[in-house]
Amino acid sequence: MFMKSLFIIINIFFGMHLVYAQEYFLNFFFSHQKTNRGQLSGNVKLYTVFVNACDCNIWDSIAIKETSDSIRLACNWLKNRAAEEKIELNIEQQCHTKNGKALVIQKKLAKDCVYQITEMRNSKKSQRMLDSWTNDIAYNIEVDNQPESMKMKKSESLIRFNNRLKENNEAKKVVLMFFVRSGCLTDNSLAVISYENVNEEYAIIAGHTRPAVIAHELLHLFGADDLYKEALSKTKETKKDASIIETLLPHEVMVNTEKDLNSLMLSPVTRYAIGWHKYLIVDCLYPEE
Ligand SMILES: [Zn+2]
Repeated sequence: MFMKSLFIIINIFFGMHLVYAQEYFLNFFFSHQKTNRGQLSGNVKLYTVFVNACDCNIWDSIAIKETSDSIRLACNWLKNRAAEEKIELNIEQQCHTKNGKALVIQKKLAKDCVYQITEMRNSKKSQRMLDSWTNDIAYNIEVDNQPESMKMKKSESLIRFNNRLKENNEAKKVVLMFFVRSGCLTDNSLAVISYENVNEEYAIIAGHTRPAVIAHELLHLFGADDLYKEALSKTKETKKDASIIETLLPHEVMVNTEKDLNSLMLSPVTRYAIGWHKYLIVDCLYPEE
């Protein structure tokens, strides 16, 4: 009798959560206008650049090797998830190199620049700072490859660099990832998505070299949204609403990047956001346990 009552209570509890979650997710997606997002499929070029952004923690060959391994793991994990959906996905990863070795770019970034953008509302100044930082790096790379680029506008370097990679590689989409080490910098990572100009998309991975963080940021660049409580609670939704997602999707990579990537999954919510599912089918969002 007790077991039977417990079973009913559990069912009512999760059943209510499910109805609540359906409404929540639908509102969430309509408010985020998901229609013109990219699709993670086909030939994708991932260009990675290691940057010494402060003096107190610079890239050495061991850290570069570890991070390169993590990038490979993240790309393979995403390819395997795509294969589950019978979606063709080729992520060609290329590191910025010179004479066969990773070439680390020296470009200082203000200590709390990424933190200001990710955590603070008034971040226009930091965003401008970051734009100029990424454009300067792209300019250096362009001048290194094609000295005549020196005559061109610095502020358009990132777009030019991205277009050149796209043309040279026949990739549907090119994404850039800048890897900076923590030290005097804060550890926040950031994906910059421009809706007006899809060429300007890039991610900055600060401090973390975990495959889960790399996969998480890469997914952002293809339309996935943060689904963890703190990120969702910043918007109009209440903390209570946001915590439902964490309860329903404890192993989702857009919820949790602390765990080992192989123990994480892509929920139907993220699969819909990155264009793998045509419709958001929330019926299958049953709790894992
Ligand atoms: Zn995120």
